[in-house]
Order: sequence, then C-alpha cells, then structure tokens
Amino acid sequence: MNWLSDITPPGIKKIFRNQSDSGDTLWTKCPACSEMIFNRDLEANLHVCPSCDHHMKIDVTERLNALFDDGKWKKIKLPEVAVDPLKFRDEKKYTDRLREYRKKTGEEDAIVIGVGKVDGVTTVVAVQNFAFMGGSMGMGLGEGIIRAAEEAVSRKAPFVMFTASGGARMQEGILSLMQMPRTTIAVQMVKEAGLPYVVVLTNPTTGGVTASYAMLGDVHLAEPGALIGFAGPRVIEQTIREKLPEGFQRAEYLHDKGMVDMVVPRKELRETLGGLLRVFTRHGVKAKPAAKPEKKADNETSNVTSLPAPTAKANDTVSKSGQDTDGLDKAAE
Ligand SMILES: [Zn+2]
Repeated sequence: MNWLSDITPPGIKKIFRNQSDSGDTLWTKCPACSEMIFNRDLEANLHVCPSCDHHMKIDVTERLNALFDDGKWKKIKLPEVAVDPLKFRDEKKYTDRLREYRKKTGEEDAIVIGVGKVDGVTTVVAVQNFAFMGGSMGMGLGEGIIRAAEEAVSRKAPFVMFTASGGARMQEGILSLMQMPRTTIAVQMVKEAGLPYVVVLTNPTTGGVTASYAMLGDVHLAEPGALIGFAGPRVIEQTIREKLPEGFQRAEYLHDKGMVDMVVPRKELRETLGGLLRVFTRHGVKAKPAAKPEKKADNETSNVTSLPAPTAKANDTVSKSGQDTDGLDKAAE
C-alpha cells in the first residue's frame, strides 16, 4: 500500500484517517443496542439513542441549553467553601483530585446553577454534574443547592433540581453527610415561600442524595431507565441473598410503585416541565408576584382574589407579563 499512500493527495489521506479513528471522534456506540451513532446526530437527539431510546449521559451545559427558552440562561456562581479541611488522601490527595476535575470539566464543583425561562416561566435550575467526581455531594454542592434555593426565593421563582450522583463525597467525611440536613432545610425554605420544587431524577441518583433533596420534590420526574436508589442493586442482593425483580430501582419500576410521578423521555422534558411550572406558578407564585409598578398592576391584584373565575386566562397573561420584567433581562445577555 505504500506506493498508493505516496501518490494519494493529503486531503484524501485525511478523510481516510478520520474514518479509521472514527471510534473516538465521530461515532459513539450505544451501550444498550450497540448501534453506531454519528456524534452529531446523537447531540441533536440530546444523547438519546435513535434506535433504542437509551438515554446516555448528557453534558450539563447541553442540558441547560436544551431546557431554557432559546437556550438563554444566566449561570450563578457557586459560593466558595473550605478546601479539604480533613486533609484527606487516598491514592491521591483530595486537593489534587479536585484540581484535576476542575480542569477536566471547567466547573468549580459537581453542580451548575442556571436561571432563565422555561416555557416563559422564570426558573432556577440546578443540575448535578456526574462528570465531576461522580456528582458527589460535598460542601461545595451543598452550598450550591442552598444558593440556588435562595435565588429561587428571592426571585419568587420555581426551583428545578436535576439529580445525578453516586452519593456523599467520602473525601469530606462527616462534612459531606451534613449536606443532607442542610439541603433538606434549603428545600423547606423554597416550600415555605410557596414556591414549587420539582426534581428530575437522572441516571444514576443514589446514596445520600436519594436520602435528602432528591426525594423531597413536589413532583418527581425521572428519565427513562434511570437507576434510582439508596444502595445499589448488587449490594442489596448480596445483603438479602435474594434475586431482585427485573428492572428493580429503575425509573419505570419506581413509577409503578409510586415513588416517581412521571417517567419523561428527555426530548419531552422541556415541554412537560414547562407545563408543570405554568400550572404551579399560576396557582401560587404567579398570583402574588410583587408586580413592578406597571399599568397592568391594578388589574393583577384584583384578579388574584378571583382565581377559579373565567378571568383565569386574563390573569395568566397579566401575571406572565409581570414576570417577564422580573429582572431576568440579564439572563438574556
Ligand atoms: Zn441504542
């Protein structure tokens, strides 16, 4: 073949080279059905296999872009926390590990918080980043959730939490476990403000996360096939020495048992969430938002008291436009 490659123009060589390394760069093999999928198609399909509907992991930013109206949202900075107070070391120093993941993901910790509009409703959305140390719950993540909850309360906006986690971050010992009550209180704060808290369980949601904020939603949505549980199925099987039923701890199984309200394919998530948030905000938040002094303000207050009346539609549009001006302009930039 040498004589052939010698006379082949460089452009053609490049084409063939790309095809031969295609495994890493251009194609992804579906772990469920082994179908080879063109990466660009996979991205366009929100990382859902077009032939078997298997939901693969999706990048946090891609998820937020797909969720918010026109892909516009504002990122909220995570609060700073003490770094490695236990001076923990396993094979590597915890500080080195953190640095590595920060470099790899470009994020500060295992959570990203964004504010934007979902179907016209200003919403605070927090997404756990499984690519960052398995989405583990440490002080950074706990503070992040508290920050997101405060943001929701101050904006009078719903709080949507996408969970994905292996559980507590063992490198932070008891300090990571303390995030369970802390995040629980943060969720409580949102609820006490009369705001909806919606959880979207994604694959996998396990450990201390399932034992705290992941199970406290007003509504629990889950992506198809997501593993949701406290201990993993293998551990349970070894402990009870019994074969577990098929589909145990998967989203559909939990839906059957009443732990999950809806299993929603990723492509329908935006629409479903938008619908829910609109219903929720119409009955709670949208009725009472501190409407900025605007011409329609009088109208709005008078409508609040007559919720079930046929004026509901007018009420909706009024409060919606009231919310439109609600400081979200920054997000659009
Ligand atoms: Zn597949």
